[in-house]
Order: sequence, then C-alpha cells, then structure tokens
Amino acid sequence: MFGRKIKILRLSGFDVYVDASWLVLAALVTWSLADSVFPMMRPGLPKATYWYMGVGGAIGLFLSIVLHEFAHSVIARANGIRMRGITLFIFGGVAEMMDEPPTPESEFKMAIAEMMDEPPTPESEFKMAIAGPIMSVLVAGVCYGGAVVLSDPMEVVSITLRYLGQINLLLAGFNMVPAFPLDGGRVLRSILWKVQNSLKKATHVSSIIGSSFGLFMILVGVVSILTGHFVAGFWWFLLGMFVRSAAQQSYEQVLLRQYLQGEPVARFMNRNIVTVPPDLRLDEFVQNYVYYHHFKAYPVVSEGRLLGIVSVEALRGIPKEQWTTLTVADAMEPCDGTNSIPPTLDTLQALSLMARQGKSRLLVVENGELLGMISFRDIMEFFNLKVALDESIP
Ligand SMILES: [Zn+2]
Repeated sequence: MFGRKIKILRLSGFDVYVDASWLVLAALVTWSLADSVFPMMRPGLPKATYWYMGVGGAIGLFLSIVLHEFAHSVIARANGIRMRGITLFIFGGVAEMMDEPPTPESEFKMAIAEMMDEPPTPESEFKMAIAGPIMSVLVAGVCYGGAVVLSDPMEVVSITLRYLGQINLLLAGFNMVPAFPLDGGRVLRSILWKVQNSLKKATHVSSIIGSSFGLFMILVGVVSILTGHFVAGFWWFLLGMFVRSAAQQSYEQVLLRQYLQGEPVARFMNRNIVTVPPDLRLDEFVQNYVYYHHFKAYPVVSEGRLLGIVSVEALRGIPKEQWTTLTVADAMEPCDGTNSIPPTLDTLQALSLMARQGKSRLLVVENGELLGMISFRDIMEFFNLKVALDESIP
C-alpha cells in the first residue's frame, strides 16, 4: 500500500496528494490525541467527546501541513519555479528520479512540496523557504485567537484550537532548524549561495550541516531510548534518519542537475546496439542474441525501419513452451513516446521519463531512424565518474 498517491484536493492550481501511508499516520494521530493528549489538557470529559476532538485535531493538523506547503508552493510559483504538487506521506521513498530500488533506509516525510527546478536565484529560494514557517506562525496566531474567543461558549473547540496553535508553532520551529533540506536549511543555503555565489558549494556546506544535525538527532534518540523515554526517543531517531538521508540525497540531486541539465542524450547514448528482425522465433532470439550479446533490450528493425523494442523483461511474462511458436513481433513493445526520445532531448528529462515510465532504457530516434539507446546505468556511470573526478580537485 505504500508509495500509492491519492489525489484529494486541488488548491488554486496545485494538486494535493496523500500517500496511502498517511492514512496510517492519521489513525495514529487521532488515537493519541483522543487517548492521551486531550484528556491531559482537559481531564473529566466524556470519552466520546475526546474522540470527536481527536478527529477534529487530526483534520486540523492535516490542514495545517497543507497550508504550510501551500505557502511554499505559491511563493515558488510566483518566482517561476515549476511545482509538481504537494504530497503528504510517511515512510515514502523520495527516489523520484531513480529507477533503481529505493535505499533500504526508511524515509520519514510529513509533506513535501515537490519542486521540479532548482530556484533560479538565492533571493527566490529565501522567499520560498521562509514562506512555509511564516504561514505556520500565522495559522498558530489564528488558532490561539480562536481559542481565546471560544473559551467560554465552546470549550471543546477552544481546547482543540489551542492544541493546533501549539502544533503550528512546533511545525514552524522544527522546519526552521538550519538543516538542509528543511526550510531553515534552505534559508541558510540561500544566504551561503548569495555570499559564495555558488549553488553547488552552498548546497555542499548546507547538506553537511544537515546530515550532522540528523546524526545529532539520532544520538538524542538513542540516549532517550536508553534512559527509558521510548516514544520520544523513537521519534527523534526517525526524524534524525530522515534529515540525514534527505540532506545527502538533496546534494546528489543538485549535482545530478548541474551535470546533466542541458546535456543532450546524444552525448550519453550507446550507438553500439544489436537489432533483431520481427519474425525471429523467441527461442532463437534467446539462444543467438540474449545469451550471445548479454544486452537487456534489443530494438526491432525490419528493412531499415524501426518497429519497436523487445526486452528480456518481456520474455519473463511468456511461458517457455510458447517460445518455439511466438516471434519477436509478439513480445515487442511498439515505438511511442514512452520509450523513444529525440537525440536533442535534455538528459535530465530523459531520466525523469525513465522514472515516470518505470523503464531503464530508451530508444534514441530521429525521423523514424534509430540512432542508439540510452540506459539509466550509462547515465549514472557518467555521473559517478564526473563526481569522482570533480571531488578529487580541491
Ligand atoms: Zn516547509
């Protein structure tokens, strides 16, 4: 059930998604509010009332997070940064661009406003990052104000609002911790970027601070658990893990953008490809091509015309007995926009197409003519080489 996004609402042009895992969190939050938080804030109410308050508090928490991310998104859009939408999730993978299996480390994310570009200037990053915490402080003010006004006539609503006021202050406070990629870390990065005039250096420094901070939180968690504070310790530990891996991943993404943006796929494509005819029997294809060349995919070409692509993956879905009767044409995937790209396409866009389509290789085609193939692995090998060479130069 994890990793499934459900669109729940549309807020002035932004789609808000909920990861299926968020439903688990919503249930946990409602339960802990009804069972311990509200009875502690105001003892002596009927049990059912605490559950109503719990549901109200959970919905309020959800809206608070949406408003926080919404503020980021609106300011980002005003500064020309394209946004994909807002996703709320826990334990989701952020391997948006990657086709490889997600890392074993679990991620903990309450919400992310998904950016498609890096901010164009330090000023735009600063404004975008600070907008979320400012919104949370404003929402906290409204909640506290409401709590005061309603304290007499509607005590139950007032208590719920007071809780939401605290949560929004906490949300602003936690996010302003200067650990990239949290908002505070982004603010720090924008300042470093402005001072050093290099996005790469600024990201590097902020991500080191971010991952050290994550390590610190993990240690606090471990110490808390050892001294008997299990629940608090567990939260510190999880948040620390999240901050740490997010800091490291963000730096990698910046490098990936920097090295691959503006590079046409023609630079990385493999021209050394083996094509197969469509009328070839599958058993012959396996014997004479797959076991001989060891490639994972083969373009299907007939009389110089590109018809499609046949992959080892597709063969797995066909029972072996049928390999002697079926041909490559039966197993191939025809050429279309999901597996073919022009040689001038930006490599970063090719990567994101691979991620969206769940494909690890694409055909590079110009005017119906096959030029080559590009694979996720080739791009990542180039990227790793480039990082290794760049890092060795002080
Ligand atoms: Zn934020």
